[in-house]
Amino acid sequence: MIEKQIKTWFRRSILQWNLNKNDRKMPWKGIKDPYKIWLSEIMLQQTRVEQGMGYYNRFIKAFPTVHSLAQSSENQVFKLWEGLGYYSRCSNLIETAKKVSFELGGRFPESREGLLSLKGVGPYTAAAIGSFAFGLPLAVLDGNVMRVLSRVLGIKEPVDQPAVKKKMELLAADLLDEKNPALYNQAIMDFGAVVCKPQQPDCKNCPFQKKCYAFQHGMQAMLPAKSKKIKNRERFLYYLILEHKGKQLVRKRTGNDIWRGLYEFVLMEKDEPQELKTLQNFSNWGLPSVGINKQVVEVSEEIVHQLTHQKIKCQFIHISIDRLINVDGYAWHSKAAIRQFPLPRLLTRYLGW
Ligand code: SF4
Repeated sequence: MIEKQIKTWFRRSILQWNLNKNDRKMPWKGIKDPYKIWLSEIMLQQTRVEQGMGYYNRFIKAFPTVHSLAQSSENQVFKLWEGLGYYSRCSNLIETAKKVSFELGGRFPESREGLLSLKGVGPYTAAAIGSFAFGLPLAVLDGNVMRVLSRVLGIKEPVDQPAVKKKMELLAADLLDEKNPALYNQAIMDFGAVVCKPQQPDCKNCPFQKKCYAFQHGMQAMLPAKSKKIKNRERFLYYLILEHKGKQLVRKRTGNDIWRGLYEFVLMEKDEPQELKTLQNFSNWGLPSVGINKQVVEVSEEIVHQLTHQKIKCQFIHISIDRLINVDGYAWHSKAAIRQFPLPRLLTRYLGW
């Protein structure tokens, strides 16, 4: 438990900064509509506000209510999500929209437990929707809040450890201004985003400066502490664009991976680079090759695509063939139709779409 005096000082400092200095603008800020809050929060998971803003505006325009989102086709939603990454969020979004619209009469649950029962809604998102839309006294704990708390209060244990995260949750709940949960939550998140930033925090203009542990001990760069070093994985992806009379062979990606629900060309994935002659041999792709005349249209340069914890090295081999072949799980579509499908950013980048 935090001393009462410190709690009062902390809350007052945050709220005064918010009142006098906070000019951070976001289209969903201050609104009470749980649908819009939910949408913005799901979009902002693992995504910068600047990147998420355009997507949010396009989604609200296309799907102004949870009912319109629930009734739209999966491809339409994925297409609008294209480029935002972490596509499991999009699947969860569709599932939750259907649940709220078809089972809950369009009303989001008004309790923490109810919100947590929605697919894709974890403690942070439940606290954000609960406090912003319904005024529930739930403290948000995102990366920004975690950073502020660990620096101001001098928490040196690694915040990526479950026990430490739990401790932070209790501290955040203890510090929450229960009379103004929405205002306080938004203020501390904004403060973390614009003042107590990951790099070069603006300590000179910070209301916590005199008592901030990190500032007093010169530990801003060390806090919050992390224990895990996440290994960067390297993947080699080769896409075979098979074409016959303006049609190309694509499939919708299934399974539980980052591109689930998106469309792609015939794919070969390897742990090490492949030679061109290997790639031009259809039998290495598990494709029929006897009696088929092939013409190489283009072989792309290697394209490097950096995801959060993966470096993808990709090459496209575009080959025209003289007849349609059947390949399990794939179907032939015109280029115009493929353009309407949701595609990974890696593909749209190469295709120039
Ligand atoms: Fe963050 Fe610096 Fe303020 Fe401490 S003094 S809370 S490190 S901005």
